[in-house]
Amino acid sequence: MSIANNIKKIKSELLETATLVAVSKTKPNEDILEAYNAGQRIFGENKVQELAQKHEDLPKDIEWHLIGHLQTNKVKFIAPFVSLIHAVDSLKLLKEINKQALKNNRVINCLLQVKIAKEDSKFGLNQTDAKALINSEELPQLKGIKIIGLMGMSTNTPDENQVQAEFDTLHQFYKKFSILNSQFSILSMGMSGDYKIALKQGSNMIRVGSTIFGKRNFN
Ligand SMILES: *Cc1c(COP(=O)(O)O)cnc(C)c1O
Repeated sequence: MSIANNIKKIKSELLETATLVAVSKTKPNEDILEAYNAGQRIFGENKVQELAQKHEDLPKDIEWHLIGHLQTNKVKFIAPFVSLIHAVDSLKLLKEINKQALKNNRVINCLLQVKIAKEDSKFGLNQTDAKALINSEELPQLKGIKIIGLMGMSTNTPDENQVQAEFDTLHQFYKKFSILNSQFSILSMGMSGDYKIALKQGSNMIRVGSTIFGKRNFN
């Protein structure tokens, strides 16, 4: 199937409330343009340098999401244009995003990455720390950032019950905040292998790469 057909097929499976982020990491500009010409406008990358280069090269109405881990010293390279940062996992990082956003006269939307997988993943907050960050007194003073939801990744396992349980855990956690806070509106979970399960568990933003663009050789 072509990239355009893959996008059409995934969009037909999405609920009206869910958004597709086409994950284009490692893929060439031609592939992104093919998706763009099929109507896709939201693309996700996991490396700052690649994201900045593609933003420079490609149409300016693309909304670029950073989906991977972000180091504080690299925030400045994406602050002028990034539309959503998915994997924020510390107050220190939020403060740097805030600083760079204000320099660019912007408010940058962010998601907190919450650990739900059983496997040891390096990144993401546990629920206690995520809650503390959301309720932190310093947060309202950061006028250059807005936390609009949560992001999570399930364990890479063929056990669908486990994946479902992990997504459900994050959905329940997300609901506690979205009820109290109207700017909390995004639950980013689900990739090529598990987005159908994620949608059933309340995801409203899926990040799909290989099912659209084909296998990657690395990353
Ligand atoms: C690579 C990546 C994806 C997309 O993965 P696929 O399995 O190719 O759909 C989604 N989210 C994150 C954080 C990623 O790094």
